[in-house]
Amino acid sequence: MEAQKAHVLVVPYPSQGRMNPMFQFSKWLASKGIKPTLAPTLCFSKLMDTTAISTHYGLPIKVRPFSDGYDDGGFIQAGSIPAYLDSLKVNGPKTLAQLIEKLTEEGDPVKAIIYDGFLPWALDVAKKFGLLGVLFFPESCSVNSIYYHVQRGLIKVPLMGPGPSTVSVPGVPELQPWETPSFVYNGSYPEWFAWVLRQFSDIDQVDWVLCSIFYEMEKEVVDWMSTMWKVGTVGPTIPSYYLDKRLEDDKDYTFNRFKPTTSVTKNWLDTNPKNSVIYMSFGSLAKLSEPQFEELAWGLRNTHKNFLWVVRESEQAKLPKQFIEETSGQGLVVGWTSQLEVLSHEATGCFVTHCGFNSVLEALSLGVPIVGVPQWFDQGTNAKFAEDVWRVGIRAKVDDKGIVGRESLEECIREVMEGEKREELRKNADKWKRLANEAMDEGGSSDKNIDEFVSFLVGC
Ligand code: UDP
Repeated sequence: MEAQKAHVLVVPYPSQGRMNPMFQFSKWLASKGIKPTLAPTLCFSKLMDTTAISTHYGLPIKVRPFSDGYDDGGFIQAGSIPAYLDSLKVNGPKTLAQLIEKLTEEGDPVKAIIYDGFLPWALDVAKKFGLLGVLFFPESCSVNSIYYHVQRGLIKVPLMGPGPSTVSVPGVPELQPWETPSFVYNGSYPEWFAWVLRQFSDIDQVDWVLCSIFYEMEKEVVDWMSTMWKVGTVGPTIPSYYLDKRLEDDKDYTFNRFKPTTSVTKNWLDTNPKNSVIYMSFGSLAKLSEPQFEELAWGLRNTHKNFLWVVRESEQAKLPKQFIEETSGQGLVVGWTSQLEVLSHEATGCFVTHCGFNSVLEALSLGVPIVGVPQWFDQGTNAKFAEDVWRVGIRAKVDDKGIVGRESLEECIREVMEGEKREELRKNADKWKRLANEAMDEGGSSDKNIDEFVSFLVGC
C-alpha cells in the first residue's frame, strides 16, 4: 500500500504486557504507510531508547510521552492502586490533550487516538478534539465479553458464594464461576475492577475496536462483538520474525521493562536437545508467595528435566535457600530474558506460565504446549481456554490454600512432555502456530483487517 501519512496517537497502558501488543501494532501501521506516534507514560518512556525506536527498521514511529503524575516511578512511586489510578485519571487526560495541542502546533496534527481499554478517558480527549477514537483490547475477547456483561448488570458479582452455578455469555463456553476473571469471581481489588469495567461505559461511541488476537481463536465471540461495534482482530501482535517475516528485522518487542539476559539463555538452550527444556515464567507483575516458590522450585527439580526459570530480581529472595546450588547442573534461573526467543527455540518443550494473555498468545503462535498456573486477573480464564478451547495445555490443580503443590506441578509437566496427552497437545500447538501465521500473512484474516483499518484512517 502506498504511503498515506495519516498520523495516529497510540496510547498504551504502562505495563510490559499491555505495551507489547500496541507497539507491535504500531509497527504494522507504520509498514502500511500510517504515521504512528507512541504515547507511553513519561516514566515508562524513560525506560525506552527513543532514538532507536524512531529509526527502528526505518519505520517512522515517534515516541511522545504523557504524564500519569508519577514521572519518576509510575505505579511504584504512587505506592497503591487507588493512588496511582486517581492520579492517572486526573493527569492523563490533561497531559494527553496538551500533547495533541503541541503536535498540532508543530504542524503534525493527529487524526485518531488508538487507546488501551484501560485508559477509557482517552476517548473523551479524542472526542473533544474531533478525532477518531479507536479502542484496543490486548486481552481475550471472551474476557472482555464477561466484563461487558458485568458492566451492563447482566452478571451479578462477585460470583463466589451462593449464586449461579455456571456463567454463560454469547460465544463463550459455559464457565465455572472460578474460571471467570478473579475480580468477577471474588470481588478483589475493587478499585481495579471498577477501572476495568469503565472501559465499557462509552464503548458504543468508539469508531473501531481492535483486538490483539486472530479471528480463528475466538470466532463466535468476535462475531457477537461485531453485531454491536466495528471490530477488527489484528493479531497475533508478536514480532514478524516469529510469524510471516514480512517486517524486516522485527525480532523483538523493542521494549523491555527489565534488563534481559538474552545471550546467556540462548547459549544455555543451545546445549539442550529438542523439546527437552521446561521454560517457566510468571510475567512482569505477578508476586508469588514464598510457599508457592518453594513448591514450584522442588517440583521443577523433581522432574529431573532441565529448566529455565525467569524469576524477576525483586522476587529472587523468595527462592528456597539451597535451590540454585542444588540444581546448578539442571537449571538456569534468570531475572528476565527474551521470552519469544525461548519459546521459539527448539529445545523448549513446555511452558509453565501464569497465563498472562500475551504469554498464552505467544505460546499459541509459536506452537509450545502449556502448563497453566494462573494467579489472578484474567489468567484463570486464559488457562481454561488453553486447556479446553485451544487444547494446547493443561491446568495445574491448586490445594485448599490456593497453592500449586510440587507433585501437581511435576505431574502436569510429565503429562505435557511425556504423557498420554503429549502427541495431541503437540499436534494442536502446531495447528495454532500455522493458523497464527496464516492470519498475519498476506491476505490472512488479520492482514485484511489491518488493511481495512488503514483504508478507514486514510479515507476519513
Ligand atoms: N516477557 C519477556 N521476558 C520474560 C518474561 C516475559 O519478554 O522474561 C514478556 C512476554 O513475552 C510477554 C510479556 O512479557 O509479552 C508479559 O505479558 P503477559 O500478558 O504474559 O503477562 P503480564 O506481565 O502482563 O502479567
